[in-house]
Amino acid sequence: MKKKILCSILAAMTAATLVFGLSACGEEEIPDSGSAPGISEQTPSGGQKPQKPENQDPPKEEQEEPHTHIFGEWKTIKEPTCEGKGERERVCACGETEKEETDPLDHDWDDGTVTKEPTCDEKGVKTFTCKRDSSHKKTEEIEEAGHEWGDGTITKMPTCEEKGIITYTCKRNSSHTKSEEIAAEGHEWDEGTIVTQPTCSKTGSKSYTCKKDNTHTKTEEIPVDPSVHAYFDGTCRDCGKKLGLDMVLSQDENYYIVKGFAGEEMSEVDIPSEYNGKPVKEIAEKAFYLNKTITNIKIGSVKTIGASAFHNCTSVESVIFSEGVTTIGKSGTQIRSGFEEH
Ligand SMILES: [Zn+2]
Ligand SMILES: [Zn+2]
Ligand SMILES: [Zn+2]
Ligand SMILES: [Zn+2]
Ligand SMILES: [Zn+2]
Repeated sequence: MKKKILCSILAAMTAATLVFGLSACGEEEIPDSGSAPGISEQTPSGGQKPQKPENQDPPKEEQEEPHTHIFGEWKTIKEPTCEGKGERERVCACGETEKEETDPLDHDWDDGTVTKEPTCDEKGVKTFTCKRDSSHKKTEEIEEAGHEWGDGTITKMPTCEEKGIITYTCKRNSSHTKSEEIAAEGHEWDEGTIVTQPTCSKTGSKSYTCKKDNTHTKTEEIPVDPSVHAYFDGTCRDCGKKLGLDMVLSQDENYYIVKGFAGEEMSEVDIPSEYNGKPVKEIAEKAFYLNKTITNIKIGSVKTIGASAFHNCTSVESVIFSEGVTTIGKSGTQIRSGFEEH
């Protein structure tokens, strides 16, 4: 009896080793291990004294044998939702059940509906509803529409120097306005008026008035003119040049008359347009009558040349008139060609 127990323990240990060894070899090597005929055959020998101690104890062996499940089709046991996982299971002939989770379906959004119209400067909202479950919503922003400005109205006219303002109103909402500046127009100057004649050593000035607004004026400098002298009492006030001509005030004291040389005769006769601050308007009769030294004559603002003023001035080579001579006395026309008649 003692011996038999010992043998059984030994056999059990050996069988365990065998089972372990088979499992380690992999299930593929024993595809039909579920029924394991080779091993089953050995079961009847259990109880007998075994020739080989490895084949022993049939009931224990059958329970511990490896079994590869063969599952049937998956069956859904819990439907997945848009966001929630589902569950499915499959069953093996042996009764073993395998369960696993299935992925959520995700939402199936519709094309969306504008639930808040965008305005000029505020975003709108578009709401999407899930086709599977209308309680599922999501929203998206809609960009601002932006203003739609009209042509604008001048609300402040620009002037010569000041900017104007043009105001635009939004076509979508007249309470939306914006303003832009209009550039100043700039002055429109006239041709200008000489305020101070330039002289040999002093600049003159010219004043301009804006044609759009005569309160707008500007003054420009006129450069020095070396040919113009400011004669006062026979001498240029600015450069000191002597005039050398005999100047007589008219009876009405409004202008000066050239009578001839003041002293020494000169070859150049340069009659100024002004003397002592008054215009020189006239050359007296016979002023340079029969003169033989004059070669060049320059006549400024003189309007009247008296008769025989340059009579028989035989040395004259050139005469320069300024515009404005209106009256030339008898034989005065000859001066234009530089020769006096005899
Ligand atoms: Zn199974
Ligand atoms: Zn959904
Ligand atoms: Zn607007
Ligand atoms: Zn102006
Ligand atoms: Zn001078």
